Amino acid sequence: MLRIWIVLILALAGTRTVPLSFSAEERPEWTRRGRAIWGGNLHEPLAFYRRENRMMAGVAADSLWLEDWYRKVRSDDTIRELADLGANILYVNFAKGSGDPKYEDLAGARELVARCHRRGLRTLAYIQFPCQIVESLLPGRPEARNWLARDRFGRPQFYGGSRYYRHYMCPSHPGYIDYLKGTIRKALVDYHMDGVFLDNFYYRPCYCEHCQQRFRDYLKARFPDPLTSIGVSNLDGVRIPEIDSRETLITDRLHQVWADWRVALLPGVAASLRRFVKGIDPDAAFCANICYPRMDNWHLRGTDPRRFLRLFDIAYAEASGRFPRWEKGVAVNNAQVFLMGCGGGANVLAGAWLPGSALPETAEQIELCLAEPLAFGGHVLAGIWALRMKGRKYARNEQELSDPYFTRPEIGCTWARYNRFLLTHPELYCDSTLDSPVAIYHSAASMRYDFGVAYPAFANTLQALLQARIPFTVLCSEDLVELRRYRVLLICSQRCLSNEEIVTIEHFVRRGGRLIVTGQSGLFDQARRERPDFGLKHLTGASLFDRPGRDVYRKTVGKGGTVFFTRAPELVGVNTRSATVSPAVPDSMHIVVDAVRRCLGPALKLEVQAPPSVLLVVFKTADDATVTHLVNYDNHQVLENLILSVPIGSPLRSAVPEAFSPDGPRCGTITRESPGRWRLAELKTYTCLEWR
Ligand SMILES: [Zn+2]
Repeated sequence: MLRIWIVLILALAGTRTVPLSFSAEERPEWTRRGRAIWGGNLHEPLAFYRRENRMMAGVAADSLWLEDWYRKVRSDDTIRELADLGANILYVNFAKGSGDPKYEDLAGARELVARCHRRGLRTLAYIQFPCQIVESLLPGRPEARNWLARDRFGRPQFYGGSRYYRHYMCPSHPGYIDYLKGTIRKALVDYHMDGVFLDNFYYRPCYCEHCQQRFRDYLKARFPDPLTSIGVSNLDGVRIPEIDSRETLITDRLHQVWADWRVALLPGVAASLRRFVKGIDPDAAFCANICYPRMDNWHLRGTDPRRFLRLFDIAYAEASGRFPRWEKGVAVNNAQVFLMGCGGGANVLAGAWLPGSALPETAEQIELCLAEPLAFGGHVLAGIWALRMKGRKYARNEQELSDPYFTRPEIGCTWARYNRFLLTHPELYCDSTLDSPVAIYHSAASMRYDFGVAYPAFANTLQALLQARIPFTVLCSEDLVELRRYRVLLICSQRCLSNEEIVTIEHFVRRGGRLIVTGQSGLFDQARRERPDFGLKHLTGASLFDRPGRDVYRKTVGKGGTVFFTRAPELVGVNTRSATVSPAVPDSMHIVVDAVRRCLGPALKLEVQAPPSVLLVVFKTADDATVTHLVNYDNHQVLENLILSVPIGSPLRSAVPEAFSPDGPRCGTITRESPGRWRLAELKTYTCLEWR
C-alpha cells in the first residue's frame, strides 16, 4: 500500500511541474497568428531522396535532375525570391533519423540557415520524432536497440507498415527522449536554428517491456482497488491489451485505461520537450506535425489534439487528401483544426495535400489554399507545394525540370498576392479572437471510447453549421467552465457524459442557455457504462421509457430551454464501425440547423445570400472591431452582387463595413442598399469585412 501511495505522489508531482498549456503571450511573437508565412518544405536530406528513389509529393526522387533541383531550391537565388515573396519561415533538414551528419547533410543545413538569416527568414530544424533509420543509426549507437518500439509479438515496427529500414522508437523510453533532447540542443545551439519541428508526433501501440512496466505502474497509481474498479485482482499480471488499433468502440475496461494512459503520456513528453526548448531559448519555436485530424481514431496513436494545440507554437496538421475544394456539394476544408487551434492559442498550418499527394495546379487552387488560413483566423500561410519540382508536366526544356514549382507564374504570383495581403493587413488577424455564440461539444470520453459514433456526429455537425454559415466554436469537455460565454450548446451523439458535465450543462440552461441535443447523448457515463435512462432526461423531458415514435422534444428549463432530436440526424448514412470519417451534411441535418437559427435570432449577426460553398467566420480584432470573413470553396466562378443582411437587433446593425480582398478591387467594394442591407460587388475566393 505504501508503495502505491509513493507512486501516486510521484505521478502527481510529475504532472504538476510541467504545465500542459501556455497562453499566447508565452509563445514567440514571430510564430503567432497573423505573422507566419511558411516558405515551403526543405526538410529531407538528399540521401533520403536517393534511398527512397520514387515520386514523393511532387519531387521525382527517381529522376536524374534530382541533384540539380536539390541545389536550386537551397540556393541563395531561391531564398532571396522566397523573401521577396513574403516568406519568413522555412523548415530545414536536420535529423531524419540516421544519426550520421553526412547522411543528414548538416553542412548543407548550416549554409542554408546562414542564407535564410541573411534574408530575414527564420529556420526550424526538422526532427523526425517517432522513427529512426536503423541501418544507419544502430552501427554507431548500439544502445538505440533498447529504444525500439515492439509489436505484440515483440518484433520491431516498420514506419508506415512497409518501410523496413525505418523503425518506430518508443517515446515512453527515457533514453530515447534524452537522445532527442541532445538533437534539439545541437540544432538550437550549434546550428543556430530558430526553433525545432518534430515530425509525426504520435505513438503507435507499443508492447515493449518498458511500456508494459510503465503501464502497470500507472494502473497501480490510479486504481488502489483494481478488483472493484476495473475487475482485475492482481495488477502485476497485467499486460497491455492486444487489440485492433482501429477499434471504434472501446468497452474492455483495461483497453479504456490503456487509451487514457497513452493519451496522457504523449502530451507529457511534449510538455517536457517544450520546457527543454524554452530553457535553451525562450524565443525558440516549439513546433510539430500533430497529424490531426487524419480521420481515424487518433487516440490509439496517443494523440490529444486539444492539448497538442496548447503545447506547440505552430501545429502542422498534416491531413492527406484534405486540400480545400468544393466536391460533390461538400466544402472539403480544414476548419476544424483551425478553429480548435484558435481556442488553444496555436498557430495552425494545414498540411493538406490533394488526393495522391498531387500538386495544386491552378491559381484558384492556390487562392483557396491560402484563403482558408486567413478566413479562420490568420493561421500560417503555407506554400507546402512551393519548393517541389516543376517537373515533367510543366518544364518547357531540360533546365526547367529541376526548377522550383513556385516559378510557375500562376503559382508564384498568386502566392505573393496573398502573402502581401496578410503583410499589409496584420491588424485583421493578429491577436484576434473567435466571435461565436454557438459551441459544438467535443466530449473527451465519447471521443475516446465511442469514436465510431461521437466523431462522425461531431464532424458532420461542424460541416452542417459551416455550410449554413452559422459561426461556432468547438468546446471540449476540459473547457466546460467556459460554457457561460455561449448562447447555444450543441451536443450531437456524445453518448458518454459524466455527472459533473451534466450538472454544469444544467446550470448553463437554467441561467438562460439554449441546449440542442441529438441521439443518445448522455445515455452512458464517462466510462461508457449505461445509465438506467438518459442522463439529460431532466433537461430534455425525454425518457427511454416513453412510447416510441416521437422525433422532437422541446422544454423550458429555468430561464433557458432545450430541443432534443431523438433520431440523431447527423448520423444518417454514417458507418459507425469505420475508423475513417469523411465529413458530410446529411439532408436531415436541416432540422438541427433550423433549431440553431431559431435559438440565435439576431445573435446571428449577419446573413449572406450565397450558395452553400460560401462559408462565413466571425472574429473580433484586438481593438474590438468585428471582422466577418467570407471564403468561397467553389471559386471557379466569380459571384456577383452578393447581398449581406444585418438583422434588426444585430450588434452590426449600426456599424459600417469596410471590405478587404486579395482578389482585386471589385472583391473589396461594398455599398449600402438600404438599412441593414449591403451589396458586395464580387466574391471570388476571399473577402473580409471589418465592421466599425
Ligand atoms: Zn514501448
